[in-house]
Amino acid sequence: MSRYTGAVCRYCRREGEKLFLKGSRCYSEKCAYQRRSYAPGQHGQGRKKASEYGSQLRMKQKARRFYGVQESQFAKYFDIAVKHQGITGENLLRILESRMDNIVYRAGFANSRKEARQLVTHRHFMINGKRINIPSYLLKEGDILSVRSIDLDKIKGAIEANSARPKPAWMDVSENTATILRLPDRNEIDTNVDEQFIVEFYSR
Ligand code: SF4
Repeated sequence: MSRYTGAVCRYCRREGEKLFLKGSRCYSEKCAYQRRSYAPGQHGQGRKKASEYGSQLRMKQKARRFYGVQESQFAKYFDIAVKHQGITGENLLRILESRMDNIVYRAGFANSRKEARQLVTHRHFMINGKRINIPSYLLKEGDILSVRSIDLDKIKGAIEANSARPKPAWMDVSENTATILRLPDRNEIDTNVDEQFIVEFYSR
């Protein structure tokens, strides 16, 4: 399945909250959700009463869109999460957090996960000294992500713009590296989803 390339602001309006998919625009007055905080489409402003299934579906879609993961990949992550020890929903979020594009974004080397994905694909980052251009690459404890192209305007701009953004406690971020100290606990993941709904969605 190909990646959706249409207007991603529709996602925020559909999920009823800002998903921060467009970098600096999300913090400006141009944010589409700020201007039209109702669902897109003809019936967007109608009365909505979600069924149990509808709520589970929406939660799954919200998480998927937040991390920019396609349906089949998301389902695979769920399968992996089930096989890991511990709570499935938390395992799932931990897997999503350990994606290379998410780490690049969380470390402040990109303004959005979408931008991070593009920069990774264009080979601007290394992991443990090796060039990796796979946004879905999963990092683990002890891995070191480093910027290859520190002088690239996009990366320089992102580092500057995000300098004040707090970095996650589970990684050690320096000027051009991010070391994974450990994978995050649930309370360190600020993603506004109730993962139990997602577990129920896949357990139907
Ligand atoms: Fe969502 Fe950002 Fe678009 Fe606002 S600008 S609707 S937060 S993607």
